[in-house]
Amino acid sequence: MRLFKPEVEAQRFWNPYTQTMPRAELDRLHLKKLQTLIAYAYHRSPMYRSLLDRHKVRPAEIQTMDDFVKRLPFIDKKDVLEAQATSPPFGDAQAIPEDFFLQRFATSGSTGVPLHIPLTYYSSVLWGESWLYILWGIGLRPRHSFYFPFHWGIFAAFWSAYMGVRRLGGTVVSGGGLDSKARIQQILQYRPDAIFGTPTYMLYLGEVAREMGVDLRKTSVSYVLVAGEPGGSIPSTRQAMEETWGAKAYELYGIAELGPTNPGCPMQGGVHLCEEWYHALVVDEAGNPVPYGEVGEHIVTAYIQHGQPLIKYRSHDLVRWTDEPCGCGTTWLYYPGGVLGRTDHMIIIKGVNVYPSAVEALLHKVAGLSEHYELHVGREAANDFVTVKVEARPETSAERYGGLKGEAEGILKSMIGVTIGVEVQAPGTLPRYELKAKRFFDHRPAEHRWQLAGRTGG
Ligand SMILES: [Zn+2]
Repeated sequence: MRLFKPEVEAQRFWNPYTQTMPRAELDRLHLKKLQTLIAYAYHRSPMYRSLLDRHKVRPAEIQTMDDFVKRLPFIDKKDVLEAQATSPPFGDAQAIPEDFFLQRFATSGSTGVPLHIPLTYYSSVLWGESWLYILWGIGLRPRHSFYFPFHWGIFAAFWSAYMGVRRLGGTVVSGGGLDSKARIQQILQYRPDAIFGTPTYMLYLGEVAREMGVDLRKTSVSYVLVAGEPGGSIPSTRQAMEETWGAKAYELYGIAELGPTNPGCPMQGGVHLCEEWYHALVVDEAGNPVPYGEVGEHIVTAYIQHGQPLIKYRSHDLVRWTDEPCGCGTTWLYYPGGVLGRTDHMIIIKGVNVYPSAVEALLHKVAGLSEHYELHVGREAANDFVTVKVEARPETSAERYGGLKGEAEGILKSMIGVTIGVEVQAPGTLPRYELKAKRFFDHRPAEHRWQLAGRTGG
């Protein structure tokens, strides 16, 4: 028995209708959805009612996309935290009764206070569906099986991918509660077609497998599906994963509070905005949309977060958006290179913007250096400065560390145009992570970090 008709199985897009819709039609649809959502949020979420009242804007006044861009305030994580604190867990941010909640997630707040995320049953189906635009696009079908080397915790992380595999009708194989060695044994035993994980963890499993004498290239895994941190759209990182696994690597970029917002492109060079469930702007520090081709902060609206609606939510992620076709045939917005960094990780050295992802990509060009690195950013006089700590590969002899340092510093200087110090360390000296790796260490005073001066929620 088949879950889909053969002619549907053969189609390239999960939803050809919306994925190839002309821009003008997409934008008309966005405006209708935004107007509906703004009215819904205003009437159901005390947080939104008070935010819009404070900014003296009524839902009915948002008549055009320009109104939406110029009149509606941004909202930030701190606004949601304040609204939730009125009556935890969800407080004034909650839009519908808890009876409708299927699941709760939380983020690991850097300040220690977690942000709570409710998910209705319907939202969970659509969160899953967002993954299908990439899974289906690269040829994954109900006959395939999917391995989750993931602890099923309170973080949204790969739960949405699980919802996606359920929506697809694929087979879920869970590696929850196991260590990395036991997971590799399970992969050998269950022979999954695809594996989910962060780029860091996918590469770490390669190290563990080598210690065990297992060659991951000879396993059943043909698809490596990464999310949670940049890497899938950084050519050198993707290549390292593909060489480790003997598989193709694809990315999805999501935002825990909103869901899987940006499925990757089957051509592997970046991610698309899932314009069926999300709207996005990319803005400069004044809060104005930047022209296509330029970099700014990703501001996202979810049409599918009914329990806790978020409109013009500040992701603090830096992306470059473009209307250039990527080659896969969709009309959805394209962000080449995926997430380029965090706004609070924006480094400016002598007037030059330095993106952490660019530093990562260049480090990988130096044979003899591993994928394990940290960026340390400080402030001296009127300038940021960066020191990179990076581990040598195990087969690199310690006498070569000095040469590698010079080579890496030379490449960074010639490609980025500023001086970045490199320290080469022995293998295993930097910490390893199962979910998001901590790579960015900011030692600058707060006033020297990115500030969004546009209309914010506060
Ligand atoms: Zn594409």
